[in-house]
Amino acid sequence: MTATAWTHIPAASTMPRHTLRHPDGRCLYVYGPLRGGLRADETPTPPPTALHQRCDLLTGGWVAISPSRNARPQTGADVPTTPASDRSPSCPLCPGGPEVPFSYDAAVFENRFPSLSPHPPPPPRNQDLAVPSFGRCEVVLYTESHVGSLATLTPLQVARVVAVWRDRSRDLWAQRRHRHVLIFENRGEEVGATLSHPHGQIYAFDRLPPLTARRVSTLVEHRDRAGRCLSCEIVARDDRAAERAVAHNDSFAVAVPYAARWPYEVHVRARRHGLRRLGDLTPSERLDLAAALQEVVIRYDGLFGTDLPYMMVAQEAPAGDDGQPQADWHLSFEFLPPHRSATKLKVRASVETSTGLFINDTLPEMSAAALADVAVPPRSWDGITVPDTQPA
Ligand SMILES: [Zn+2]
Ligand SMILES: [Zn+2]
Repeated sequence: MTATAWTHIPAASTMPRHTLRHPDGRCLYVYGPLRGGLRADETPTPPPTALHQRCDLLTGGWVAISPSRNARPQTGADVPTTPASDRSPSCPLCPGGPEVPFSYDAAVFENRFPSLSPHPPPPPRNQDLAVPSFGRCEVVLYTESHVGSLATLTPLQVARVVAVWRDRSRDLWAQRRHRHVLIFENRGEEVGATLSHPHGQIYAFDRLPPLTARRVSTLVEHRDRAGRCLSCEIVARDDRAAERAVAHNDSFAVAVPYAARWPYEVHVRARRHGLRRLGDLTPSERLDLAAALQEVVIRYDGLFGTDLPYMMVAQEAPAGDDGQPQADWHLSFEFLPPHRSATKLKVRASVETSTGLFINDTLPEMSAAALADVAVPPRSWDGITVPDTQPA
């Protein structure tokens, strides 16, 4: 395993953020130099129709109904880039496409096909169990290059992605109606990614999703019963279980969780109590996070010698009724890859879907050993910072 050790962290730098607006009102945030503008003759996207949420009476949970998402573009990995180019002519996320018509370092735009909207239509009439689907859906472009991933980006580019996440996270949490903000990435067609360009997404919710609410309840109950932080205890347990460790990192425990649901699930969990959201990261913790995330994906890709599809979610502390982040929540990134071998997928089938009980065909300790054994080429992070962002 490799270890992160910063010999020198340069003084905090800043990165400008430019805010542009498409004719249909959607925001485009460009980070770093601004090298162009939006087209004046752009055809506005009509607002999403039939978007609403329905209550499941048996569970009390909500289901987001979003039929317009079926119109999303689909350009999988089979779309070749032009020779000697890292751009794909058919990719809507490459420079020159409909979302960013010019060259960029990193960018974020409001999703053209959202499941949640800041201006949702009213729910269908005569439906007493439906509510507007309020929220926000954004797409995060890691790089303008069509080919690449968190594993192959340079340390400077990964640091920039962390800076962009921090910027959007802070902005979305600052809106009091947002109770939860979820940064995530679906990589690979196996987990529903419709575009192969390196990108992630962000959803902001006006209510706690069911599993998030359950985690909050568990943390509160443990605090009431034991008088201490359950997340600190989980970090300590991960540190004691060397057989589940995947990588060494000063600021984050990087391990296959004790009760892993997916065969090669990995959690990157903040060690420091009080590090609840991306905005809480110190300069050295930002770098540690960037290095840890890249190392996990490098290990995934080395596991079977191919780009391993995964779901990656940033678990930031949700807001309580008082708007404050949950006190005992530790920031974590969770990687959930569906593969159980080079060729076989773990499918979330009848039992998992209907009961919530996961059946993992792999011993977590063996998965961790396999991931820890992957050779990771040394990468130099010297001189790299995760910059603060500021409006241009
Ligand atoms: Zn592209
Ligand atoms: Zn804690």
